[in-house]
This record gives sequence, structure tokens and C-alpha cells, in this order.
Amino acid sequence: MKPNKLLILIFLILVSFSVSAQKLNILVVTGGHDFDRKLFFEMFDTFQGISYTEFQHPEANLRLGSIDPKTFDAVVFYDMPKTISETEKKSYYKLLKLGKGLVFLHHSQCSYQDWDEYKTIVGGKYHEEKNTPQTSTYQHDVTFTVKISDSKHPVTKGIQDFEILDEVYGNTEVLPGVTPLLTTDHPQSSKIIGWTHQKENSRIVYIQPGHDKNGWLNPNYQNLVRQAISYVSKK
Ligand SMILES: [Zn+2]
Repeated sequence: MKPNKLLILIFLILVSFSVSAQKLNILVVTGGHDFDRKLFFEMFDTFQGISYTEFQHPEANLRLGSIDPKTFDAVVFYDMPKTISETEKKSYYKLLKLGKGLVFLHHSQCSYQDWDEYKTIVGGKYHEEKNTPQTSTYQHDVTFTVKISDSKHPVTKGIQDFEILDEVYGNTEVLPGVTPLLTTDHPQSSKIIGWTHQKENSRIVYIQPGHDKNGWLNPNYQNLVRQAISYVSKK
């Protein structure tokens, strides 16, 4: 082999090592709410450098606690189960202790209505209880403007305010300690619709839009989800 070919070979090996070092492996947790699986996962297929494995309920929570932590960087939740056992809760405590990045999308803030600690993990809560001052609301197929609160944050970097056709949630609880990333002025929506915070050792991001393909196929939404995954993964 000529010396210049050898150099090229060494260069290519180094490049492939650095690419594989940056590659992120994520878990995507689903179940408890219907969705168009094909179009939802097409969004993840567009994310270069991010590979995913789906965990579905009812097994998902126990699998989160038993999987080798070295095999994944972050977990994306697009699920909405109603109940959780004490054993399953331990999987969440383990993720937080390990500092695994957590991204919660859309209806995942409605999960586990009776598990009070859950909202301190997500950073907010959609309240399903009926006819109280806290009762949250929803409205499908609303066109609204998503406003970027901090254009320098790694989750929102390079993204301008944008319009989206999606479901809005109103009168949701947003915990005071979170850092807002996304807001809207739509009257049927809560003002803060995306945020980040830290819980124990984990970085956490919540993004409210994402009911269906109108959100998932929106390039700005895709960028938000992709950059949220990178940010919480701390690589
Ligand atoms: Zn929805």
C-alpha cells in the first residue's frame, strides 16, 4: 500500500470512530394513547446520528429498570398510561440517579394522574380531574404560533418562531422551577408549552405539541425534538 493510501485509510478509520462516538442511542416509550405509529417513527428516521429502540407498555417501565444503562443515552416518552406500580416507579428513580436524559412529548404529561411525584419529573401536569379550578382542557386542530423564549439555548438554537397546526392544552400546571423554552399567546393554550429543568442528575425537556402528523412532519418541530434529545444526552 502506498503511504498516501495508508494515510487516507487511517483518516477514514478515525472519522468513523468519531462518528460512532457521537451517535446517540435512545429509547422511545409508547403505549396508553393511540397514534399513527408509521408517521411518528418516520420523524425519528430523519434524525441522523440517532438510533432508537421502542419500549411499549405494559412492559416498558420494567424494561427501563432492567436494561443495561450503558446501551442508551436518553429516553423519549410518548406514552400515557394511567397507573404505575411501586416496582415500576423504581425504574424512573434509577434513570434520574444515573442522569439519563429524559424528553417528554405531548400527552406524556397526562400520565399517572395519581402519582404526585411524576409532575416533578416532567416539570408540569395536565390535570384530568373534572370540574375543579385546576382542570386542564384540550382543543384539537388549532393553528397557533410557537414562540422561542431563548434562541441561544441548545434545544431552540437556530429555530425561529413558527406556526403549527396541533392540539393545544389549556390550564395545565407548569412547575415554577422550570426554564421556559417555548410559549404561545393562543387563548385556548397554556402560555408555557415547552421547558427544560434538572431533576436529580437528569436533564429533562418537555415539548407540548406533537399530537399527530401535523406536528411530527413540521420541520421546526422535528428540529426541536432532535435538539432536545442531543441536549439531554449531554454528549
Ligand atoms: Zn393529543
